[in-house]
Amino acid sequence: MFLGVDSCRRGGRSLPQRGWRSLPQRGWLCQSDLMRLPNYYTAPGFERAGLKRRDSDWIRAAIGDAGSLFVPVWRSQNLVVEIADAEPRAIVLGSDHAALVIGQGDPDTHLAEGRMVFLGVIEERAHFAVDLSAIEAPLEMLASPALAASRIPADGARFADLRQLAGRLARHEGALLALARAMLFWHQRHRFCGVCGSPTQSEEAGHMRRCTNPDCKTMHFPRTDPAVIMLVSDGERALLGRNKNFPPGMYSTLAGFVEPGESLEDAVAREVREESGIEVGTVAYHSSQPWPFPGNIMLGFHAEAVSTDIAVDYSELEDAKWFERDWLLAHADDNSFRLPRLDSIARRLVEDWLHRRAGPGSA
Ligand SMILES: [Zn+2]
Repeated sequence: MFLGVDSCRRGGRSLPQRGWRSLPQRGWLCQSDLMRLPNYYTAPGFERAGLKRRDSDWIRAAIGDAGSLFVPVWRSQNLVVEIADAEPRAIVLGSDHAALVIGQGDPDTHLAEGRMVFLGVIEERAHFAVDLSAIEAPLEMLASPALAASRIPADGARFADLRQLAGRLARHEGALLALARAMLFWHQRHRFCGVCGSPTQSEEAGHMRRCTNPDCKTMHFPRTDPAVIMLVSDGERALLGRNKNFPPGMYSTLAGFVEPGESLEDAVAREVREESGIEVGTVAYHSSQPWPFPGNIMLGFHAEAVSTDIAVDYSELEDAKWFERDWLLAHADDNSFRLPRLDSIARRLVEDWLHRRAGPGSA
């Protein structure tokens, strides 16, 4: 059975329900609340059930449970359905169709190869990611006679880059798909031990890979690399920069990776200095956002500038400018100037500064 995860309607019509089973709505959120919510790609209430990962009997039973759901990922793309005038929805598989799609081999083999990863529990249903990357044409397989009973919509289903959906999926769907994508990407990139070069094997239902060399046995864990992202202000002006790869007119907050041996505050100050020549004083934490493109966590800050003369590093940025708060508040997005997309922490940092709000975790 193919299942559509319930979606929050934000304009447009809802998808037809025939052939679909809806899950209980969870984290149902509307756009009017958008700026007071945790950042997109997080899912409050999602139970990762970490203690179950080592319980192989429980995991095996959950894989065969008719109530469990499987999130297909193909070459870092997620399966969604889009029908005209409706918001996209995630497609997840029931256990019967997941078994058909993933093919030969028992669950233990799929788990050991990292092709199946336990994600967690939602509404008492175990959720797994399944990697379909070895299949050349997964959509054709999904539409095959063996799966015809699934009644997957013939049109509109596709594997898509989650980034291209730009937050149009309901928040809990976006978080689930992001987690599935991030975990399977990590498995694809850690098939060999970084210590001795021997093959690694997945354990703990996909949350650890161990080197198969008996003299090494090094354990490797899923990683997420920290990056800082900061709205720099000198009071009534915000410092925004433009990367040459941005869409036309888009300006955003500055950002960069945290380096070894560096505090987050130091990373904020260094990145701002390197990219814009601006010195910052007080640095205040705002919020964070998982950013699985491919495996980052964005750590957001508001920072006070203590200098005003900009010196752009053109190897990093195409431009950087001060923007007046009143001008930003009055300007609607167009090709001459636009802010980052609504699902990004960059936009959140700007919006909360514009409206003099603290971060979502603040009282
Ligand atoms: Zn090794």
